[in-house]
Amino acid sequence: MATLRDFLREGRLSALEARMLWQHVLQVPRSWLIAHDTDTLSEDSVQAYRQLEERRLAGEPMAYILGMREFMGHEFLVSPAVLIPRPETELLVEKAVLCLQGRSDVAVLDLGTGSGAIAISLALALPQAQVVATDISNEALQVARENASRLGANVEFHQGSWYQALPSGKVFDLILSNPPYIAEGDPHLVQGDLCFEPANALTDGADGLAAYREIVAGAPEHLQPGGSLYVEHGWEQADQVCNLLRQAGFRDVASLPDLAGILRVSGGHL
Ligand code: GLN
Repeated sequence: MATLRDFLREGRLSALEARMLWQHVLQVPRSWLIAHDTDTLSEDSVQAYRQLEERRLAGEPMAYILGMREFMGHEFLVSPAVLIPRPETELLVEKAVLCLQGRSDVAVLDLGTGSGAIAISLALALPQAQVVATDISNEALQVARENASRLGANVEFHQGSWYQALPSGKVFDLILSNPPYIAEGDPHLVQGDLCFEPANALTDGADGLAAYREIVAGAPEHLQPGGSLYVEHGWEQADQVCNLLRQAGFRDVASLPDLAGILRVSGGHL
């Protein structure tokens, strides 16, 4: 009769991932696993675990297997229709919070929201802000809407490509985006978690800057005078994104490093 201890000893997955899958199968907290590691496991739960383990061994990301990923301290539902929220994207939300803190009556736009992680975290951090989010994918918007309702965030969602999703005449104090920024043919696209994620959330199918050109070009028309734009980008794109911003008339253009010291977010104001 197999026990949790036996499964952890097998070593087919790392102990961390095996524990995460067992928590999911048994619907118990981590402390339960520690206290019950010599209990006999039921046949059904062993079977359920083996199925998840197979998926993981085939390379499927943990977040899709569990259907969840934590971001800014909130649990977000994720499915293969959306990019898995990344820890480095928290920098973009933190910058936005700093930018708007203490201001009342502000409107924020998140372009290409995916799971809604950025827009929803911001709406929860700044309940006085009006938060609007767009995505081209209806499937992604379903996930984002469900996350907003589960987490009690007030976000207005619109479907469409970048600014085309918006009702006409709408202007914002701050625009944010974590657009697809990996260049077509980049070898990372066929490695690890990325090959399970939606391609159109990862790559622009071009040089990796196509989304920034569109987002930056449309920003002046959709920002209040003095309004700001901040975007996440790849490790080697800070200079190019900053140049696009300057060429479009943005001022005080600057880049911020993520926790790994990589310039990850750039922006400025009009
Ligand atoms: N940060 C992601 C990665 O490199 C890419 C996300 C994106 O293209 N916006 O894995």
